[in-house]
Amino acid sequence: MNIILMGLPGAGKGTQATRIIEEMNIPHISTGDMFRAAVQEGTPLGLEAKSYMDQGQLVPDHVTIGIVKDRLAKEDCSSGFLLDGFPRTVPQAEALDQLLTELGRELEHVVYIDVKEEELMRRLTGRYICRSCGASYHELFAPAKVAGVCDRCGGELYQREDDKAETVANRLKVNMKQTQLLLDYYQSAGIVVRVDGMQEIDEVTDEILTKIRDGKL
Ligand code: ADP
Ligand code: AMP
Repeated sequence: MNIILMGLPGAGKGTQATRIIEEMNIPHISTGDMFRAAVQEGTPLGLEAKSYMDQGQLVPDHVTIGIVKDRLAKEDCSSGFLLDGFPRTVPQAEALDQLLTELGRELEHVVYIDVKEEELMRRLTGRYICRSCGASYHELFAPAKVAGVCDRCGGELYQREDDKAETVANRLKVNMKQTQLLLDYYQSAGIVVRVDGMQEIDEVTDEILTKIRDGKL
């Protein structure tokens, strides 16, 4: 199963990805998580990515495409993958198509989690992330059982640097235009189905899994 999870920042991609991979046994590939890991490790990739991330800009396509190419070549992707946050531009989508053709594979589903813009700001500015496993929490909508501690792995929760209100506004602006272009790109291939991301977290998961299993996408 080769799946892309699409949606504006804060739509719930990471939250849903964690749940979907538990059901489907495929790796969760988040370019945002990969960049954050590189920043934390202080690698050259991390240093380059950080300057864009801090401003809410997209990391250049050639850099992003390069890391996804390397990741999809790994053994654990042989039975499928769940991409989260990639592709984010049409050139990235074209590069992914080319890569999949080379690998003799194709995309089955492009799941678009649809959430109203005014809700995204609330979700992002209240978000906390686990430093160890990357799980997402929200101070109001999805609080951890013990404040500051990850329910899943006991890791420390922190607020992402780019979830501060000033950067969030720019991220939403940058991503909105690209997302529409990408939706147009995949809609013409007939593989997009919108999922209502304004529902409760469990309801969104159910809608995604039902549609994937029924082949309705
Ligand atoms: P993305 O990966 O798309 O940027 P996240 O999965 O990190 O988004 O979710 C953003 C924030 O919104 C997190 O704080 C998360 O707990 C919260 N959230 C996710 N889905 C929902 C939902 N359906 N209802 C309310 N809050 C949600
Ligand atoms: P995310 O965790 O998906 O919200 O991504 C965090 C940041 O990483 C983004 O604001 C971008 O700066 C960068 N990033 C993640 N994925 C991509 C991508 N596919 N293309 C360009 N930049 C990306």
